Amino acid sequence: MTLALRCARLVDVEAGAFLPDPTVVVEGERIRSVRPGTDPVPDGVEVLDLGDATLCPGLIDLHTHLVGIAACGDPVQEIKQSAAQQAFESIVHARDTLHAGFTTVRDVGTYRAFVDTALRDAIDQGIVPGPRMAVAGAYITVSTGGGMITGLAPDIVLPREFRFGSVRDVDDVRERVREILHGGADLIKVIGTGAVMATGTVPGAPELTEAQIRAAVEEAALYGAYVAVHAHGTEGIKRAVRAGARSIEHGCYLDDEGIDLMLEHGTYLSADIWWSDWLREHADTAGFDAETRAKNDEATEAQRTAFTKAVRAGVRIGFGTDAGGFPHGLQTRQLATLCEHGMTPLQALRAATLTGAECMGWQDRVGSVTPGKLADLIAVPGTSDDLTAFTDVRFVMKGGQIVRNELPGTRL
Ligand SMILES: [Zn+2]
Repeated sequence: MTLALRCARLVDVEAGAFLPDPTVVVEGERIRSVRPGTDPVPDGVEVLDLGDATLCPGLIDLHTHLVGIAACGDPVQEIKQSAAQQAFESIVHARDTLHAGFTTVRDVGTYRAFVDTALRDAIDQGIVPGPRMAVAGAYITVSTGGGMITGLAPDIVLPREFRFGSVRDVDDVRERVREILHGGADLIKVIGTGAVMATGTVPGAPELTEAQIRAAVEEAALYGAYVAVHAHGTEGIKRAVRAGARSIEHGCYLDDEGIDLMLEHGTYLSADIWWSDWLREHADTAGFDAETRAKNDEATEAQRTAFTKAVRAGVRIGFGTDAGGFPHGLQTRQLATLCEHGMTPLQALRAATLTGAECMGWQDRVGSVTPGKLADLIAVPGTSDDLTAFTDVRFVMKGGQIVRNELPGTRL
């Protein structure tokens, strides 16, 4: 099946430009050609004209949590659900994410180990609709750290699936990393500092040594995998960068030295700078406690300042939102926020496509509208440079299959 897509404008993230009146020819699951609109379409090729719309590569969110109770301020709720309940709910999260324009996500951890690998496989097998997923399987974390369900009485012991990645020393890190990768994970997520969402932990405090993070990086590399490190605090960020982390998640208290280190090591930044706005608005209904709100307010202010500095310095920046903290499907709201904090619209769209693909090592298959890559494409109405338009994605194609089309397109 060959289909030619036409529209008013294409986001060319490789060239960093908007191309007027393109024709994108899709053959099977891949992009065959990208041509000027005035070129005639080859005989026998069906044309779908999306009209006054902007076509863009399918978006990539580097930081989602598709498994687990969404938009809930109390992580203890996680142990009130069975694995089956979490799996069924994650189907809705995956669908909402895909319909919002995200054809690929990097899912960076679940409190209950390995529900995410099952979701990824169900999507890949065509059993349920959803984005392409790279998954972390579980969190590598200290026993009372940011990757654990905290806030329980100290004499309560969680079942093993909730502390699968709990580590004490370097040897422990290596063993847990092996177990998580043998369990089917694509990458390793390390919780390097305390977390905003984990009661009792301190976002600025490092929770793992540089040697422990390095052990995770080395062990993961033996399997061709890499490490994403959750790090808010200044020292935790630097330990992770020096240890060879592929990406820093959050990066709230990133300082100038940290920025220099990230430039030197080519580390990616995935900073969820939007969702605290959602949290502030919904803190009461979602049940976020005073501790979480105070940590969020402080961390966010620092994070946005650090983000702008990182943009100016030229740090590699992907697009990560922490979806799951807020309802799945709202992630595109962060695009306009990136522009408010130092990115141009084309920089923000590149972060959410090509740079995300590069961070995942998937740039050979997704991230741009390039002949030979998978036909993951989305469209929004109009040709405005205001990225709030992306909160209204109307067309989604994944691997050449139209998942959603609510544009007044005409088949000719
Ligand atoms: Zn997260």
